[in-house]
This record gives sequence, structure tokens and C-alpha cells, in this order.
Amino acid sequence: METLFVTGGCGFIGSNLVRFLLNETDYNIVNIDKLTYAGNQASLDDVNSNDRYHFEKVDLCDLTKVNQLFRRYQPQGIMHLAAESHVDRSIDGPDDFIQTNIIGAYNLLQASLTYWSQLPIEDSRQHTLDAPTQATFRFLHVSTDEVYGSLRPKDPAFSENTPYDPHSPYSASKAASDHLARAWHDTYGIPILITNCSNNYGPYQFPEKLIPVVILKCLRGEPIPVYGKGENIRDWLYVEDHCRALKTVFEKGSPGETYNIGGNNERQNIELVRKLCKLVEEVASSIHYPLETKDCKSLITFVTDRPGHDLRYAINASKIKNELGWEPRENFESGFRKTVQWYLKNQDWWESILSGNYNLERLGQSEVSSPK
Ligand code: NAD
Repeated sequence: METLFVTGGCGFIGSNLVRFLLNETDYNIVNIDKLTYAGNQASLDDVNSNDRYHFEKVDLCDLTKVNQLFRRYQPQGIMHLAAESHVDRSIDGPDDFIQTNIIGAYNLLQASLTYWSQLPIEDSRQHTLDAPTQATFRFLHVSTDEVYGSLRPKDPAFSENTPYDPHSPYSASKAASDHLARAWHDTYGIPILITNCSNNYGPYQFPEKLIPVVILKCLRGEPIPVYGKGENIRDWLYVEDHCRALKTVFEKGSPGETYNIGGNNERQNIELVRKLCKLVEEVASSIHYPLETKDCKSLITFVTDRPGHDLRYAINASKIKNELGWEPRENFESGFRKTVQWYLKNQDWWESILSGNYNLERLGQSEVSSPK
């Protein structure tokens, strides 16, 4: 059985990915996570007893420990998701973003290089099928569409050839790590793949991000903060579709290549927020959940825009569709309905975060109104 490292597996996308891989594949999964405020082991309560799941609390900035993990587990590959990911926090305090997103990624690349250089060059006579070789090892670097900068309303969507133009400390730090990953492939030959994905939504997203903020504000009857006039446009992808795309790229993608991943779901923030308000009203009514107000839209409150707020992101995902056969399965209606249902059914999960039962000391320091 092959062993994969997933970094950042206690975060939003990481926890969905770990669960997805355990359900859909035979891989052993080693989840490497520092457990920052955004890392929540409760998001993986249901897989903790799975024999194929292992957790390692390690900071990627600690190269010695990262090297030890490679020696111990001899992985077949890595899916690298660990990051500081909240744009507002990157504006308030960029330090952690530079450390984890750049230095952490650099450490992981260096540890991979040391490990990969010592792997046998492929020779099936000397190795069992599952043993990693230089040819079979894969490093998947997971990144964002934000590295491409901002589009005007009629501009064509981002393709894999769009020049990088990041505007926030978050997107700049992610862009830096993309460049490092590409350089480690081109210079040293490690089989590295890069994905750039649009905004994700779905179960287990930390309550500081736009979608959970809107749902939870509706449930609590509190003002829903929306930046500016809510005119910013984002593309939205259901997190399980992203997980399936990552598995597809990891298994079928060509090393050295970049694949854009998107949901074909471009929406203005205000349209999305209104849609969520309606869905919360419908789902709450179907399960007799008592809402504070019957008109959630009335809770929408416009707040001063974020500095450097990109107007529009849009993804052209035709490469991954044409070359690897991946397409999103959820549409706008089905994906957001599932998400609203999940937050209503899993109150314990988000209430324990909001009530401060775990490492939440930083939540109050950031405005909870960002799309990512
Ligand atoms: P998240 O903030 O929910 O989770 C990040 C995880 O990384 C947390 O569990 C945290 O504890 C861990 N972590 C942080 N610093 C670490 C360190 N130094 N060492 C080890 N672990 C560390 O993030 P997310 O939203 O799940 O995003 C995951 C990845 O996907 C990120 O790389 C992000 O840039 C990318 N991405 C996210 C989106 C999105 O919409 N959320 C879209 C495209 C790409």
C-alpha cells in the first residue's frame, strides 16, 4: 500500500481531502499539520480510528522534523496544502504567511529533494510495485487563482499561461511558493505538479470565511458584513470536486505541468450572499430550525472595502477537462444547498469553534467578511 503525505490535513480543504482519499483509494495517509488556529482535529474525528490514517503534528518550518518524516514513512508522494490562507489576516500580519507559505514550502521541497535523490531510478526488477522510485514519486503543490491578480468584467478567464500578478500578502506568498515549486522541478527534476484553484466552499470551512460567515449570521440573526457594494466576482467550487481534481492531477497529470481548477460558477458576492440567505431560509424551514428572522436578506450590511481588493477572478479549466477528464459534479444550486444543510446539521462543530473551545485566540482580530 502506498503512503501519501497530505500537509495541512486539519484545515478546510485538507480535512475533506484526507477523508476523500481514505474513502476513494487504498493509500495510507500521513497528515502533517502544525495545528494553527485554522487546524481542527475535530474535522477528522470520523477517520481517526482508520488504520490507514496517521497524524503528525509538525511545523513545516522545522526542516529537521520534516526530514525525519520522510525517512520514517518513505512516501510515494505529497499533496501540499498547508498554508496561512486568510487574506484579511495576511494584511493585518504578513509574517506567518511568509514563514509558512514560502519558508515552509521551501523546506518541503528541500526535504523532498533529499529524499527523492536517494530513491532508486525506476527498475521494476529490484522493487516491489508499491515502493517509490524517482519516476513514480509525485509532489502536488496546491495553489490558488489569486496568484493571477484581478480581471476586468469582460477579460477572458485565467488560463495556465496568464502571467502572475498577485496583490495581497497572501497571494504574493502563494505565488512565491508556486515559483519555487516550478524551479525545483525545472532545476532538479523532481516530478512536481501545480494546481491553481478558485474559491472553495463546503463542509468544515472555518467560520471566518465568507460562506460560513453568511450561513452562521443568518442562523444567529446577526448583520452579514459584505465588502464595498458586493460587486466583486469569484468563481466557486464545491470542495469535494476540488479533492477529486487533486487526486486526478496527482495520479494522471504530467510532472512540470500546471492545471487550473474551477467550478464554472462565476458570481458577484452580493448575488451569492442573497442566494445563501434564501437557501438558509428554505433548509431551516424544512427541518423546523427556528430562525431569528424570516427575511435573512435584511441582515446584509455593507462595510468598507478591503484594501487592494481584486475585482474579479475567473478560471478557464479546459486543460484539466480536455487532458485529464475532470469536471465539477456539483452546480451552484446543488453544492450550496448541501453546504447549508451541512452547517445546519453540524452545529456542534462550528459552535465549539465560536465558543472558543479550541485554539481561537486570533479569530476576533480579523474582520469576518472575506471571500477567501
Ligand atoms: P486552511 O487555512 O483551512 O488550512 C490550512 C492548514 O494548514 C491548517 O490545518 C493549518 O494548521 C495548517 N498549517 C498552517 N501552517 C502550517 C505549518 N507551518 N506547518 C504545518 N501545517 C500548517 O486552508 P484551506 O482553505 O484548506 O486551503 C488549503 C490550501 O489550498 C492552501 O494552500 C490554499 O492556499 C489553497 N487554496 C484554498 C482555496 C480556498 O478557497 N480555501 C482555494 C484555492 C487554493
